[in-house]
Amino acid sequence: MIFRQLFDKTSSTYTYLLAERQGGEALLIDPVLENTEQYVRLIEELNLKLVLAVDTHIHADHVTALGALREQSGCATAMGAMTRAECVSVHFNEGEKLRADKLQLEVLYTPGHTDDSYSFLLPDRVFTGDTLLIRGTGRTDFQNGDPAAQYDSLFGKLLKLPENTLVYPAHDYNGMTVSTIREERHYNPRLQVSDKQAYVDLMNGLKLDDPRLMDIAVPANRACGALNAA
Ligand code: FE
Repeated sequence: MIFRQLFDKTSSTYTYLLAERQGGEALLIDPVLENTEQYVRLIEELNLKLVLAVDTHIHADHVTALGALREQSGCATAMGAMTRAECVSVHFNEGEKLRADKLQLEVLYTPGHTDDSYSFLLPDRVFTGDTLLIRGTGRTDFQNGDPAAQYDSLFGKLLKLPENTLVYPAHDYNGMTVSTIREERHYNPRLQVSDKQAYVDLMNGLKLDDPRLMDIAVPANRACGALNAA
C-alpha cells in the first residue's frame, strides 16, 4: 500500500493519500485547497491516478480542495449522506466502501463533532476525522455538534476496534502524527469519563473560541471549496 500523511501548517490539518499500488488508483482524505498543487504533483510523481477525494465532514477551519481536484483531475468527490453539500458526486453511508483498486475503506458514521462526521476504516488503521483526535476529541459546540452522539461514536464504535488499530486523525496541534486505539483508551484525557453524562458535562464545560476561518470555510465547503460561495 502507498500511504502518505500530508500536513497543512496553517490549519494543522492532516491529508491522507492512499493507493494500493504504484501506477494504480489513489484517493485523498481531507485535502486542503491551498495545497492542491502539492497533491497533484505528488500523485504524478508516484505515477498514480486520483479517482476519489473525500472529506470526513464539513470543515470549519480550512477550505476543502474537493472542487479544485475534481476540476483538475476529473476525480469523483464524496461526502457523507448527512453532509448538506450538493456539489459532491457521491454520498456515502455507514457500511459502504470507498475504493481505490483493491483498497477498500469501510465507512463508519461517527457523529458528534458535527452531524456529518464519518470515519474510514482499513484492516490496520482508522481515519477518525475530528471525532477522535490524539489525546483529544473534536469540539461539539457548533455545526450541530452533539456531545452525547460523540460519546456513542467513541465508546460504541471507535473504541471497540481492535486495540492495535492505528488512529489517524484530521488534525493535530501538538506534533503527534499517529496513535492507537489502546493508547487513546488509556491516555486520552477526554475518554477517562465514567459515563455519557460525564462526557457531556466535560464537553459542555469547554470554553472555546470560534475557528478563525469558520465564516468563510463552512459556506465554501458546502460548495466543495468554491470561495465565492462564502
Ligand atoms: Fe472539524
